Amino acid sequence: MNDVPAPAPLAAAGRQRGNPEVRAIPRVIMDEVYCAIRLQRSTVTSMDRLAILTSGGDAPGMNAAIRAAVRSATTHGITMMASPNGFMGLVHGDFQELDDRAVGNQIQRGGTFIGTSRCPEFLHADVRAKAAENMRREGIEGLVVIGGDGSFRGACALAGEQGVAVAGIPGTIDNDVYGTDHTIGFDTAVNTAVLAIDQVRDTGESTGTTFFVEVMGRTSGAIALHTAVAAGATGVLVPEAHDDIEDLAQRIRKSIQSGKRSHIVVVAEGDHEGGAFRVAKKVSECYEHPYRVVVLGHIQRGGSPTALDRIVAAQSGALAVQALAAGRSGIMIGIQRGVPVEVLLSEVVAHSHPEARSDLLALAQQLAG
Ligand code: ADP
Repeated sequence: MNDVPAPAPLAAAGRQRGNPEVRAIPRVIMDEVYCAIRLQRSTVTSMDRLAILTSGGDAPGMNAAIRAAVRSATTHGITMMASPNGFMGLVHGDFQELDDRAVGNQIQRGGTFIGTSRCPEFLHADVRAKAAENMRREGIEGLVVIGGDGSFRGACALAGEQGVAVAGIPGTIDNDVYGTDHTIGFDTAVNTAVLAIDQVRDTGESTGTTFFVEVMGRTSGAIALHTAVAAGATGVLVPEAHDDIEDLAQRIRKSIQSGKRSHIVVVAEGDHEGGAFRVAKKVSECYEHPYRVVVLGHIQRGGSPTALDRIVAAQSGALAVQALAAGRSGIMIGIQRGVPVEVLLSEVVAHSHPEARSDLLALAQQLAG
C-alpha cells in the first residue's frame, strides 16, 4: 500500500457530537491525530450501549470487524447490540446482544454472521425516524455501520436527522470508497480471483487457449486491475477506461506469434462491452483463435479473509468504537498509506468512488509480454 499516491487532503476527524463545527485537518497531521486518539484508550464516557450492523454486499472480513468492535466495546464497558440484516434490524427494532463469546471463532469466517440486506425503506425519512426511535427505546446511543458508500449515506442521514452517533467501517470487495486506500474484503476477493486464474492458466498453457476471466466490479475496476497485475494478464478491461478491442486482439495475435501459449484477459463485469462473453466474441471477430470464458461470480465474495483484511478489520472495528466512546461521531475509519485515520462521513459520501489506478493499467499492459 505504500506506493499509493498521496490522497487529496481530507477534512477529517475530531468532530464532537453536538458541535456542528467541522475542523478540516490537513493529512500531514492526521497521523498525530490518530496517535492522540489511540492514547485516549479506555476514556470513560457516559455511553452504555452501541449497535453494530453490516449493510449492502457482504465481504470477507466483516466478521473480524464485528469481533473487534465487540471486544473493544467490552474494554470500554459498553454493551454491543447487533442489528440483524443491516438497517432492517433498526427498522424492526430487532436487536441482539453480542458479548465477547458471541464473536468467538468468527475471525476466519467469510460473509457476515449478523446478516446483511439492502433496505430500500431506509431511503425514507419517516422510516429512519422509526429506526432512531427503536434505538432510543433500547438505550442505544451510537451505531457502527460496516458497508459501502450507500450504507454510509444511510448512516449520515440517521445522524443528521436524528442525532444518532455513527461511525463507519468501509467493508466492500470493490475498494471503491473515498477516503481509504483499503476496504475490508478487497484483498481477499483479489486473492481469490488470482488463485482461480493461476488454475485456469494451467489449462491455457497446456492447450494454447486464451481465457477471458470476468471478475466482479460493476462500476469499479479495482478488483480487475489488481488481479490483472498479480496474475500477469495480457489484457484488462475496466468500467473506468475505454475498451480498445482491436488493440487487444492485435496484442494477443503478436503474442501468440511470438510463441506464448497462455493468455489471460481480465474483464470487470461492468466494462463497456458488457462482460467477458461479449469481449471474447469481439476479440475473436478481430482475430480468430481458441478461447474460453470463465465468470468467477460470487466465489469472489466468499471464503476466509486474508490476513490483511483481518488486520484492517481489527484496527477499524476497535477504532470505530473508540471514537464513539470518546464522543466523536460522523466519521469513517479509513486506511491511508497503511495508517488508520478518521475521515468525515460527509466527505466520504460527497465524493464518487476513487479514480481507477491508471498506473496499474499501464503496468499490466507494459508487462503483458
Ligand atoms: P453499499 O453500502 O455496499 O454501497 P448499497 O448502495 O446497496 O450498498 O446501500 C446499502 C443500504 O444503505 C441500502 O439498501 C439502504 O438501506 C441504505 N442506503 C443507501 N443509500 C441511502 C440513502 N441515500 N439514504 C438512506 N439510506 C441509504
